[in-house]
Amino acid sequence: MFDSHCHLTDLEEPDQALKDARHGGVMSMLTCGYHEPSNQLTCALHERHPSLPFALGLHPWFATQDLENVLQLIETHHPTAVGEAGLDLWGDPPCHPVERQIQVLEAQLQIAVRLGLPVTLHSRKAVDLLYSVLRNHPGVQGALHAFSGSYEQARRFLDLGMYIGVGGSVTRSRAQRVRHCARSIPLDRILLETDAPAIGMDGVEPPHVRPAHLVIVRDALATLRQQPAETIEAATDENASRLFGISFS
Ligand SMILES: [Zn+2]
Repeated sequence: MFDSHCHLTDLEEPDQALKDARHGGVMSMLTCGYHEPSNQLTCALHERHPSLPFALGLHPWFATQDLENVLQLIETHHPTAVGEAGLDLWGDPPCHPVERQIQVLEAQLQIAVRLGLPVTLHSRKAVDLLYSVLRNHPGVQGALHAFSGSYEQARRFLDLGMYIGVGGSVTRSRAQRVRHCARSIPLDRILLETDAPAIGMDGVEPPHVRPAHLVIVRDALATLRQQPAETIEAATDENASRLFGISFS
């Protein structure tokens, strides 16, 4: 299994979490930076574990940090993916002005296309705007992590060639929209993720979520889609290999 979006550097014991994950069958994962300190820590972690896929980026919550610095880091380290990047329009006003958020996102989309890297994207209350930004950047490959929109909205991103990240929310029986979407999207476009330690799931709450808990997400999705867990696992592993250009077992 592959955890397509997590934050090992937010854990006190990233090396242990990595070990536990592998022990539980989560053989690899994409660990994502999201601001200056976490990008530095992610690079350091990657140096200790050269086979660990990693992403570097600037999350919309930190859109006022030094963008040039992040772009330089991406250029130098050539990570597996760019991100966590995206748009967050939650709140009135949102965390940072929308114009700045778009500028930060577009710069990261451009460098991703130029270096041939996929992106891992955050979207909160911003699905339609994110879609129109992506549509203006042909050639962007990537995934919408922890997607919480409707199936109809997901459809538009699928048409752009994007993948959809399915995470802990799918384990919650009250998350009807997320569950409907996860049931309906084609299996060859789904990625599993924990977003550890940030997003809870049935039986595990933040900050205790670890990549090893990905098995709970896989099983919930298997039940929901009425498909064997092995089928879900094999397909999502293949999707991750294809999108991130990596091999793992
Ligand atoms: Zn995240």
